[in-house]
Amino acid sequence: MLTVDNLDVWFGQAPQRVDAVKGVSFAVAQGESFGLVGESGSGKSTILRAITGLAPTWSGRVTIEGEALSGGKRSRSFYKTVQMVFQDPYASLHPRHSVDGVLSETLHLQGEKNVDKRINELLEAVGLGQGFRFRYPHQLSGGQRQRVAIARALAAKPRLLLLDEPTSALDVSVQAEILNLLGDLRREHGLTFVMVSHDLAVVSHMCDRLAVMRGGELVEVMDAATLRSGSAQSDYARNLIRASMGYARA
Ligand code: ADP
Ligand code: MG
Repeated sequence: MLTVDNLDVWFGQAPQRVDAVKGVSFAVAQGESFGLVGESGSGKSTILRAITGLAPTWSGRVTIEGEALSGGKRSRSFYKTVQMVFQDPYASLHPRHSVDGVLSETLHLQGEKNVDKRINELLEAVGLGQGFRFRYPHQLSGGQRQRVAIARALAAKPRLLLLDEPTSALDVSVQAEILNLLGDLRREHGLTFVMVSHDLAVVSHMCDRLAVMRGGELVEVMDAATLRSGSAQSDYARNLIRASMGYARA
């Protein structure tokens, strides 16, 4: 579904240049759920942003379903395959656009004919129902906003969803609901996920495999069973796991 080969991403020019991602390579199979973990600033979001064309300068090779991405803007067909859900549902929805406005705009861009029917289907799919259709963001809770953002992503019928800490801006009580929704949607639609999280318990629950990032570099790729057993290869990954989950099993 996705391959990332020797990806470098940087911001600015020397001497201010920041090398946010350095020589990162990994591959995600069709239908797989792949986690990206690591401390704040380790380059996780930047990898997703490079894939979706939101990072200005990068090098390396990225393929989606075997097709290499080029620099510059992504094509419309790219967004039919790949969609992103951001961390902060307060920032990612325009305050003056209703739920109906957000979804119908996306559906029109996709060339959808039966917009009414699709909006209702999408609202049902994310557990909101039609009563939410004409609400504005300020009339929604954080969890409900994230459901709208997920509906917007699904409107394009993507095959790959890039999820950047999709629950970390939400109340703890709501996080599990959104994670369960995402898991259900992945199974129903056969989606592939790349999910960034700093919460290893979430990744262990949601992902088949994960990559550990540190200072822009990929330290190690492991499967979820390795994460749960705490038997990572590198000291760094083992310490990260111990710090995040280990108190329960230390
Ligand atoms: P993470 O998502 O793992 O917390 P990021 O990918 O957001 O980390 O950031 C990686 C590094 O790139 C950090 O050092 C961050 O400060 C830097 N960075 C991210 N975005 C920009 C930007 N637009 N301009 C300059 N530096 C940036
Ligand atoms: Mg981030």
